[in-house]
Amino acid sequence: RAKRGGKSDFHFFESSLDEQARVRREMELDLRLAIKDGGFELYFQPLYSLAREELEGFEALIRWNHPKRGMISPAEFIPLAEETGLILQIGEWVVREACRSAREWPEHLSVSVNVSAKQFSTPGLTTTILQALTQSNLRPNRLELEITESIFIADVEKTLSTLHKLRDLGVRIALDDFGTGYSSLSYLRSFPFDKVKIDQSFVRDLNVEGNNAHAVIRAITTLASALGMRTLAEGVEYAEQREILRREGCEYIQGFLLSRPVPASDVAALINCRDVGGLLRAVG
Ligand code: C2E
Ligand code: MG
Ligand code: MG
Ligand code: MG
Repeated sequence: RAKRGGKSDFHFFESSLDEQARVRREMELDLRLAIKDGGFELYFQPLYSLAREELEGFEALIRWNHPKRGMISPAEFIPLAEETGLILQIGEWVVREACRSAREWPEHLSVSVNVSAKQFSTPGLTTTILQALTQSNLRPNRLELEITESIFIADVEKTLSTLHKLRDLGVRIALDDFGTGYSSLSYLRSFPFDKVKIDQSFVRDLNVEGNNAHAVIRAITTLASALGMRTLAEGVEYAEQREILRREGCEYIQGFLLSRPVPASDVAALINCRDVGGLLRAVG
């Protein structure tokens, strides 16, 4: 096994805890520099309404343009940002930048912003959101905050109170990566989310025969709709998946089938491309 990996694996096995700590410290310093020097960029991925066959808005997804390592995905640095608390400054930048971008789009389009658990539990969150809305002059209901089930691991009372404060600002709240957490169903009942984002793993399961994936999707869309929530499926890559999702009552989709996340400068092209549905129908 070690042989197959060649030299880099050898290096990996040799790397001591000291070495790992050094790399981590270096990355933390680089993150601090990126915050100071504007080393981040937002990419945007369309959210598409199957029912109305039109764009609903875009999800903002952060990228780190590292001076030496190039574009780094959030999966690589968000965990460290959370551990070090740097996520708070990064998160503030994300919401400000997302609102500023959305202000340039047609009025009916919304912007979705990911809020991490650490960010969610800080007292300054509602102020940060309010300031971003005020500075950009964006209508609050054009901003959607995406939270995950992990926020419920903390004090549930406090979590619910924060959710209600945010709702009172007029922003929308989506439950991201739904179905991957522990006790997903009970969380769904605890707050009137505007939208439930079905995790990509369930959409991927649709490709496999005989695993009841259709039934799981149908159960989620039925329950969500009974609770007055809309459903979006993440990670839709194939027209076949889109058709099953449509049949099973899913209202919105997001995924590479429509478009990969694109830099802000390419958003206008997606908005103007006789709506993204054209692309969708072409692919389907
Ligand atoms: P997420 O919020 O669930 O975002 C969806 C992820 O799935 C994105 O990865 C997106 O590029 C990817 N994706 C979209 N469509 C497809 C598809 O059809 N197939 C596949 N295989 N993947 C697809 P990304 O951009 O790497 O972000 C990963 C995660 O990092 C996000 O998951 C979110 O949890 C976190 N994240 C991203 N931006 C931010 C941010 O600004 N703040 C915070 N706190 N977290 C962020
Ligand atoms: Mg998300
Ligand atoms: Mg997600
Ligand atoms: Mg995810």
